[in-house]
Amino acid sequence: TQAYLKAMEQARSLNAYVLETPEIALDMAKESDRRIAAGETGPLEGIPLGIKDMFATEGVRTTACSKILDNFVPQYESTVTSHLWRDGAVLLGKLNNDEFAMGSSNETSAFGPVISPWRRDNDETAMVPGGSSGGSAAAVAAFLCAGATGTDTGGSIRQPAAFTGTVGIKPTYGRCSRWGIVAFASSLDQAGPFARTVNDAAVLLKSMAGYDPKDSTCVNRPVPDYEEAVGASIKGKKIGIPREYRMDGMADEIDTLWREGARMLKDAGAEIVDISLPHTQYALPAYYIVAPAEASSNLARYDGVRYGERVPGKDVVEMYENTRAAGFGPEVRRRIMIGTYVLSAGYYDAYYLRAQKVRSLIKRDFDTVFAQGVDAVLTPATPSPAFGIGEKLKADPVEMYLNDVFTVTVNMAGLPGISVPAGLSADGLPLGLQLIGRPFEEETLFSLAEVIE
Ligand code: GLN
Repeated sequence: TQAYLKAMEQARSLNAYVLETPEIALDMAKESDRRIAAGETGPLEGIPLGIKDMFATEGVRTTACSKILDNFVPQYESTVTSHLWRDGAVLLGKLNNDEFAMGSSNETSAFGPVISPWRRDNDETAMVPGGSSGGSAAAVAAFLCAGATGTDTGGSIRQPAAFTGTVGIKPTYGRCSRWGIVAFASSLDQAGPFARTVNDAAVLLKSMAGYDPKDSTCVNRPVPDYEEAVGASIKGKKIGIPREYRMDGMADEIDTLWREGARMLKDAGAEIVDISLPHTQYALPAYYIVAPAEASSNLARYDGVRYGERVPGKDVVEMYENTRAAGFGPEVRRRIMIGTYVLSAGYYDAYYLRAQKVRSLIKRDFDTVFAQGVDAVLTPATPSPAFGIGEKLKADPVEMYLNDVFTVTVNMAGLPGISVPAGLSADGLPLGLQLIGRPFEEETLFSLAEVIE
C-alpha cells in the first residue's frame, strides 16, 4: 500500500486519481495485517485497489467527475465495493472518468483529461487512455494500483483496457449489483474489473459479483470460481468470427491482430467458424438512442435539491435551470437533449421504440449463433489504437461515438465481454481483442483470454 501511494504521488501528472485517500488506505492495510496475523485472510487481503468515481463510497467524495456532484459525500457504500472490502481489499482513492461515464477518451471529465502512461515522451504526443474508465485503465497500466473497478455501458471497460494494454471484463448484465453505482443507462450499465493479467481480473470479478436484493436486475445465481477457468483447456470450443465486424476501411493492423488471435485459439484446440450477426450495423445508432434516453431520465434527479451543487435563482424553476446549466458539461447536456427528444410524445415511436426493436434483433443474432453451438465470438476491441489528446473531442461528436462500434452490441445484448491485450500497433501502442460469451459464461472468456494474453 505504501509503495502504491508513493507511486501515485509521483504520477500525478497522469491525472488518473481525482481523490487520493492515503489515511484510509493505511488504516485498511493495517487492519489487513491484523487479520493476516490472526489467520483470517480474505481472498483480496491487503490488495490495494483504485475505484472509479462512479461507485458510491461511504464517507468518501463521489462525483461521477461532474461539477453537479462537486461536494457529494455518500452515506452508503456501493454493493460491488463493499464486496471488495469484505474480501480484504484496500482503497487507494477514486479514479477519474468521463463525466457520468459519457465518453470514450476521458476528456469530458470535470477534473480534466487522463493522460495515458503510454508514449509519454512529450505533451504533443500525449495519448488518451480511452474512456469512460480512463483513470482506471491508466492507473492499472502505470502500476498506480493492483487492480481497479470500472463501469461499462457501451464499452467503457473494454475500450480503455484495449488502449492501455490491460485486461478488462464487462460481465453479463445482472452479474454484479448496480446498487450504489451512479446510474447512466440502467439497462446497459455493468461493473467490472481492470487488471494487468487475466488471472487478476478473474480474482477481482469473483469478489465483485453476486446477488444483491437491492438491485432488482441482479441475478441470483452462484458465483463460480473464475480463477479455476484461467488455464483450463479450450479444446473443442467453437469460436465465431462475425463477418459484419470486418468493416470497410478497417486498419490492416487490426485485421492482422484479429487473424493472429484466431490462430492462437485454433492452435490451442479451438474450432474457428465464420458467423453472421446481420444487425450489427444498426447497433451503434440504436445505442446512441437508448443510452441517452435512459440517461436523460436518470439525470433528472440532479436538481440542486437532493445532491451536490446548487446555483440559486429567483424561483425554484430558475434554480433548477441555473444548477443544471452550471453543473453539467457539454457532452452530458448533449445526451440529455438527445434523450428527451427521442422520448418526447411525437418522436417516441420513430426513435426510441424503433431502437428497442433493433435491440431485440441484435440480441436475437447472438442467440442464434449460440444456439448453433458457438461458445464465444472473437472481434477486435476497438477499430484503432489510442488517439491523441484533443484529436477527436474537437471534431464532430459522432467521430468519438464510432470508437464504440465493436463494444456497444455486447451491452445491447446483455452479454459478457472481455478485452485482452493482443499486440502492438505499428507505432507501438497496445491493441486489444474482444471475446463475447454466452450469458453467465464468463469462465469461458477467462479460459480463452488466457490463451491470447
Ligand atoms: N463511449 C460510450 C458512451 O459514451 C460508452 C460509455 C460507457 O460505457 N460508459 O456512451
